[in-house]
Amino acid sequence: MNAQLSPTLQPVSSPCEAIAVAHGDGIGPEIMDAVLHVLRHAAPALRLQPVAMGHAAYLDGHSTGILPQTWDVLAEHPVLLKGPMTTPQGGGYKSINVTLRKTLGLYANVRPCVAYHPYVASPHPGMDVVIIRENEEDTYGGIEHRQTDEVVQCLKLITRPGCERIVRYAFEYAVAHRRGKVTCMTKDNIMKMTDGLFHRVFDEIAAEYPQIQAEHRIIDIGAARLATRPRDFDVIVTPNLYGDIISDIAAEIAGSIGLAPSANIGLHGAMFEAVHGSAPDIADKNIANPSGLLLASVQMLLHIGQANAAQAIHNAWLRTIEDGLHTHDLFNERTSRRRVGTREFAHAVIERLGQQPQHLPKVAYDGAPASATSTRAPAPVRARADKQLEGVDVFLDWNGQPRDPDELARRLQAATPAGFRLAVITNRGVKVWPNGHPDTFCTDHWRCRFKATQGWLDACRVPELLGRLVEQGFEAVKTENLYRFGDQAGYSAAQGE
Ligand code: NAD
Repeated sequence: MNAQLSPTLQPVSSPCEAIAVAHGDGIGPEIMDAVLHVLRHAAPALRLQPVAMGHAAYLDGHSTGILPQTWDVLAEHPVLLKGPMTTPQGGGYKSINVTLRKTLGLYANVRPCVAYHPYVASPHPGMDVVIIRENEEDTYGGIEHRQTDEVVQCLKLITRPGCERIVRYAFEYAVAHRRGKVTCMTKDNIMKMTDGLFHRVFDEIAAEYPQIQAEHRIIDIGAARLATRPRDFDVIVTPNLYGDIISDIAAEIAGSIGLAPSANIGLHGAMFEAVHGSAPDIADKNIANPSGLLLASVQMLLHIGQANAAQAIHNAWLRTIEDGLHTHDLFNERTSRRRVGTREFAHAVIERLGQQPQHLPKVAYDGAPASATSTRAPAPVRARADKQLEGVDVFLDWNGQPRDPDELARRLQAATPAGFRLAVITNRGVKVWPNGHPDTFCTDHWRCRFKATQGWLDACRVPELLGRLVEQGFEAVKTENLYRFGDQAGYSAAQGE
């Protein structure tokens, strides 16, 4: 079975026909024109509403690359077909994609990675993997701070509702597409709380789908296996950063990143695009491959309930590839018959509407969205855990010479008010006091963990502690409260603690 591209899980009662279209930068306008040309033949009822975003909007002074009036259009046209956008170099500019995904709540990124061997050379013929990447959380909040002369940090935020939504989406996707296995990839051997939560939620939700095989891999070996044995995988669900990386690897080893589509799905809207960027090196030459965006438009048609048009385009595209009409990026002497430009490729697909591939597996979308809504009751509202404050981590910018943790501890203990005890000091997460190792490298950024000497702390004691430290000449650059949730610590132990 060839990969079915539908990312849709909610059935669409009546086909939606109004689509917002952003042409994009670089090769964007030419590949979008090619795709719209195909859509006008295969789905003539679509109403296409152009929207302004991209490089010109950035240069016009809009730091997100999106004009204010574009949001009004998107409110009325919650389905967006988007060309690739160029992000200007330099600080101050935000990624359009990140802005759209987060503002519109497009929490699920669905990337099918399929090999079209032998027509598109791939080291892994038969590869057919769908990567479902969490799209809003993780380190992509862009919450970064420089805290000392030497140290910067990025916050990694993982939420239970975010994990539940994306993991359930992955299992529902597997059910809807008759796929047998969902693999979760995290690094919870190191990040026991953040990635640990993702893994735990995966195990909880997997238990509701006994018909689907569920497995977990640590992301490093998981990514290595994906690159070498992709046929071991079916559907993969993973947090944002890992998903970003492995979906590009998977698209590349399938044959070409230029063929990969990407759907960004939310509860109220969706965005469809190619995985590749704006390729300024080949812009305006009529040589770009429009396939990634065309296959994204197939995902879009399925999402809006136009399964017949989606099937017709997808099969015509497969037939075009099989017939050896290839753009320059795919052209090779062995399997290509003719090198075609962007426009000619689109014409070739249009000529083949109604035809099916003869060798590659054809797709069958059966006149209805390959979709399934969960009939399960919504997750019960969870009782909030009993939460008690038992200490505080105070992060100091301290450049003592020498940087001696024992000296720092002596000075801190002298400044510690009654009711607190200094429990541990770490540097870059590694315990350096008490009983640190003399070889541990220390920066100017120290995490000093204070615990209540007895029972729980009143929150107003934290400012008192900070005040004392400041009085003694310390510079606290950040604090993190240490809570106990029920019988579980809400913080990690220091490495070596
Ligand atoms: P890129 O994907 O644009 O190009 C990488 C290479 O692949 C280039 O050699 C290019 O010629 C080739 N290529 C890409 N798409 C092709 C196609 N359809 N047909 C034939 N060849 C193709 O990546 P990049 O050069 O790193 O990024 C260029 C710009 O695109 C940057 O400003 C980047 O920020 C942006 N970008 C945007 C998106 C998006 O809008 N979704 C995604 C990635 C990168």
